[in-house]
Amino acid sequence: MTEKIYATDQYARTMDATVVEVDRDDRRLLVDRTVFYPGGGGQPPDTGALWVGDDRLEVVRVTQDDAGVWHWLEGDVPGRGTTVRGDVDWDRRYLLMRTHTAMHALCGVVWERYRSPVTGGNMKPGEGRLDFELPDWDPENRGPVEAELNRQLGLALPVEISFLPRAEADLDPSLIRTKVNLLPPSLTEVRVVDIVGLDRQADGGTHVGTTGEVGRIEILKVESKGKGFRRIRLGVVDA
Ligand SMILES: [Zn+2]
Repeated sequence: MTEKIYATDQYARTMDATVVEVDRDDRRLLVDRTVFYPGGGGQPPDTGALWVGDDRLEVVRVTQDDAGVWHWLEGDVPGRGTTVRGDVDWDRRYLLMRTHTAMHALCGVVWERYRSPVTGGNMKPGEGRLDFELPDWDPENRGPVEAELNRQLGLALPVEISFLPRAEADLDPSLIRTKVNLLPPSLTEVRVVDIVGLDRQADGGTHVGTTGEVGRIEILKVESKGKGFRRIRLGVVDA
């Protein structure tokens, strides 16, 4: 298994690692440790480069399976045992961290006002969408929700990462926000992202350390997605 540096040190942008498995047909390799997020929970995988000495190999895709985190490359794949240096595209990743934290903050604000659960979500750098079961939505609420979200972000609330034993996490159903995104049975430890005082949920993604780093957001659009369902799109203002 690959040591997932991004899960505990979200600001790490480089790593030194050793190639432990190679799949030449698919031009991909496994390393023993990585800062590259493989995607999940609506956050797309990182891009960047692996360096072998002065040779730069473009990382075009990152995925994970039971074996670990796979780095898909353009060009030749170095052999097993090679030492590599990894380098994520930090501007893109940091914007994704700000976007992801903004989306959790929106979950918190919508929950506080409407007690409405999230049914799905997705993001790209600087922009995200969340789907809510939100039967009581009135178009006039858009301004107040945006204002409340920006007020909470402006409080620079700490965003804390912790790990709970599975049995403990199962006792707290509020941790699982997305109805369709249940925890796999094999999971023994659950990573929790806590925007202190606003939103706490099980999540594998990368986040900023305080909501102050998100900056201001705007609600770009609220769409109706069938009876009682709304899709809210938000953008990071200086993205
Ligand atoms: Zn998330």
